[in-house]
Amino acid sequence: MDKIKVGILGSTGSVGQRYVNMLRDHPWFEVVALSASEASVGKKYRDAAKWILDTGMPEGMAEMEIVGADPSEIKRSGADVVFSALPSDVAKRVEMEMAEAGLGVIADTSAHRMDPDVPLVIPEVNFGHLAAAKAQKEKRGGFIVTGPNCTTIGLAISLKPIQTEFGIRRVLVSTMQALSGAGFFGVPSMAILDNLIPYIRNEEEKVASELLKILGDFKDGAFEDARIRVGASCHRVCVLDGHTEAVFLETEKAASPDEVARCMAEFSSDAQRMRLPSAPDRPIIVRNEPDRPQPRLDRLSGSPDRAKGMATVVGRIRKESALDNGIKYVLLSHNTIRGAAGNAILIAECLKAKGVI
Ligand code: NAP
Repeated sequence: MDKIKVGILGSTGSVGQRYVNMLRDHPWFEVVALSASEASVGKKYRDAAKWILDTGMPEGMAEMEIVGADPSEIKRSGADVVFSALPSDVAKRVEMEMAEAGLGVIADTSAHRMDPDVPLVIPEVNFGHLAAAKAQKEKRGGFIVTGPNCTTIGLAISLKPIQTEFGIRRVLVSTMQALSGAGFFGVPSMAILDNLIPYIRNEEEKVASELLKILGDFKDGAFEDARIRVGASCHRVCVLDGHTEAVFLETEKAASPDEVARCMAEFSSDAQRMRLPSAPDRPIIVRNEPDRPQPRLDRLSGSPDRAKGMATVVGRIRKESALDNGIKYVLLSHNTIRGAAGNAILIAECLKAKGVI
């Protein structure tokens, strides 16, 4: 099978490096363009990227020359699809230029997530929303599909089976978010060591709006928000990778902690049934120990090997008597794998399986 040629925008950054690493031997995709800012253009990837992952830089890509974030340069490389890990302010213009030039754009950035014709997708949760990509292609030539903020993703995955089986009235979440979520230069070490920062700009608003779009419907070409009340409090903690979240919710129909644990553990989707290369065997792993999940121990959970870090790990599922039909639990999701590059690669696999790319 000929591989689909892809490019990576923002390839030298913390999410960009995850793409480079996860696409190194991908069975369906071949990286033909690595792009970054003007300061990096013309350099070899090995000189432009300050590599921060604990796996070595892939040899073939280390020698590639960085190209500009310009549709003509990307098309010259032969790429049909680009993954975008650009800063959001740059992404707004660049992603639309790429789509209008006929490229497929799969973005981790917030720039177009709430556009009325752009789907916001977690393959296990709202696979059907990808139909909006087909409609865009007819209108624009190319298309933009986005993945959610790294904080929303594990939350949405954990809520989906509960929403389907019991209905959800209200969700409250308190997050403990990893440093890599802010990018390599995001939080100075002097600010975070021996400390915690109880504020992440715009994050609480994004969690609420994105969650409702993802858990909502796509009908007659339009997105309709889920009717759930959502409240979030977001905090940065001194953990390298892996967002931990304490979740409290009210279900429509009463559910015991055992019933919630069962529906989460049994949860599966088309991405699993189609055995897509980056789909974890189980989207949710339920742990029974009283002190799990923990970022250092659980962030790389998931199988097969290609899907390590793609599963959401849930533990401490218990009753919350301060709420009507109250349930609470703790979840952990790898923010640069499942929360960014891994989710986008899984979206690309879905689009290939549906014949959109
Ligand atoms: P980052 O480490 O700061 O990397 C930014 C990348 O964009 C670098 O490759 C940089 O290239 C490139 N870039 C900067 N300005 C540019 C310009 N004007 N034109 C073209 N390329 C430019 O950021 P990150 O943490 O990887 O985040 C990237 C995006 O993903 C952000 O929108 C972020 O919100 C989103 N996101 C991040 C996470 C996470 O966990 N980190 C999760 C979900 C989504 P140079 O090396 O040349 O400067």
